[in-house]
Amino acid sequence: MNRIDVAQIYKDASALLEGHFLLSSGNHSKYYLQSAKVLENPKNATILASALADMIKVNNIKVDAVCSPALGGILAGYELARELGVRFIFVERDQGSMVLRRGFEISRGENIIICEDIVTTGGSAMEAYNVVTELGAKVVAFAALANRGFCKRAGSDLSLKPSCKLAQGVPFFALEDFVFDIFSPDNCPLCVNNDKPIKPGSRSRN
Ligand code: ZN
Repeated sequence: MNRIDVAQIYKDASALLEGHFLLSSGNHSKYYLQSAKVLENPKNATILASALADMIKVNNIKVDAVCSPALGGILAGYELARELGVRFIFVERDQGSMVLRRGFEISRGENIIICEDIVTTGGSAMEAYNVVTELGAKVVAFAALANRGFCKRAGSDLSLKPSCKLAQGVPFFALEDFVFDIFSPDNCPLCVNNDKPIKPGSRSRN
């Protein structure tokens, strides 16, 4: 497998942002990963998904389909499915809970990989996991382009944190660990001089 520099690919695509960010958790961070920016170039999607598929293939994981939680995981999951030569489906939120719609079907006993763009604590990935296992399929792996360091990916020395929600005993493959300091709003060194954090993805400044 060719070793690829995932951090450099994110930086080159202006997808590894440095600044003062308000995370969805309410905490602040100096860095933010914007995977959609990386994947807006289909060539990057191919490079990243191909490397991820290689990790899965060398581990001899038998897979029938890739399933992603919408919206964030769809591009990464679709490209991974292409590389693995299997079909791709997604689950989406409907009145608060993740469901399978659009005529997608899962057969009992099918082997499924749950794919995200980035796994933070793995909450969305686990919602997808619950949908497919309730339909009788087996989740054989979790996959993501990047791991934010809360969960333990195969081959990394980083240890698991208690906030990781991914089902243990199911391997988790990701290309890279991106571990950033996260600050609570009342203890954030970036908030000095009344600097206000920005919400990533909003129009301001980026
Ligand atoms: Zn702050």
